[in-house]
Amino acid sequence: MNALDRFRLDGQVAVVTGGNRGIGKAIATAFAEAGAAVAIAGRDEERNERAAAELVAGGATAVGVRADVTSRADLTALHDQVTRQLGPVDVLVNNAGIGIHGESLSISDEDWDRVMATNLSAVWKASQVFGASMVERGAGSIVNVGSMSGMIVNRPQWHAPYAVSKAGVHHLTKSLAAEWAPRSVRVNAIAPGYTKTEISDIDSPEYKHYWIDEVPMQRYAQSSEIAPAALYLASPASSFVTGEILVVDGGYTLW
Ligand code: NDP
Repeated sequence: MNALDRFRLDGQVAVVTGGNRGIGKAIATAFAEAGAAVAIAGRDEERNERAAAELVAGGATAVGVRADVTSRADLTALHDQVTRQLGPVDVLVNNAGIGIHGESLSISDEDWDRVMATNLSAVWKASQVFGASMVERGAGSIVNVGSMSGMIVNRPQWHAPYAVSKAGVHHLTKSLAAEWAPRSVRVNAIAPGYTKTEISDIDSPEYKHYWIDEVPMQRYAQSSEIAPAALYLASPASSFVTGEILVVDGGYTLW
């Protein structure tokens, strides 16, 4: 196998949560280009179907599956349906996420719980549901989408619950990586910087100084620049890498 072949996912089955738009859609597209059969999971059925149809039109095998990642029942149904339709799942990408901005004294318990449920507890639940069959088969790769916000405190927006949830994702990544390494299941994460998608108010003038000018590369990312990092961690190209948090931030966390 040459070096480029090691980035291929031919014959593999991948599930991407939140794969119907933004960073998740770019990851699903990259995986399909690398030869994987891809399941796109999200709450919006129509968007799931549309994203899957785009991959199928490009010659890939892809399905959309409705799932709310905060629900263990939905995650179990997702696992069972994909296994039935496409085969055992080789790659899980825990990408679904939400963000809220607000000063800590004004954040309600409901908002805190919602962010934790989607960004952290769902990663735990999905890792258990999919990890069980990966550990049983002695093969699998989980890629979590963390954030540079799990490593630094962003400015000027305050979003303590979001940052804490992503720091949790990073440490969950390392904990599961250590536990499952002897079972040949790798667990890694990417930590993107500012990326143009629906979740980020990237073009707001009040953020330009902090979100663009202060980035060493002086710009934000496109989702297509984040996806190859996920492909590296999902594929045999990273066969000796586990517990890694791969920062893709244009240099933002350098200072
Ligand atoms: P988007 O808002 O564009 O997409 C979020 C995706 O998550 C959608 O597909 C949405 O689908 C899905 N989702 C949200 N809640 C749930 C849920 N309860 N169950 C299932 N799916 C859900 O966000 P991004 O692409 O920007 O973000 C993707 C990931 O990248 C997130 O984890 C985010 O925190 C992280 N990230 C983003 C950065 C950025 O600057 N954009 C920077 C660093 C990290 P649906 O609504 O259909 O459920």
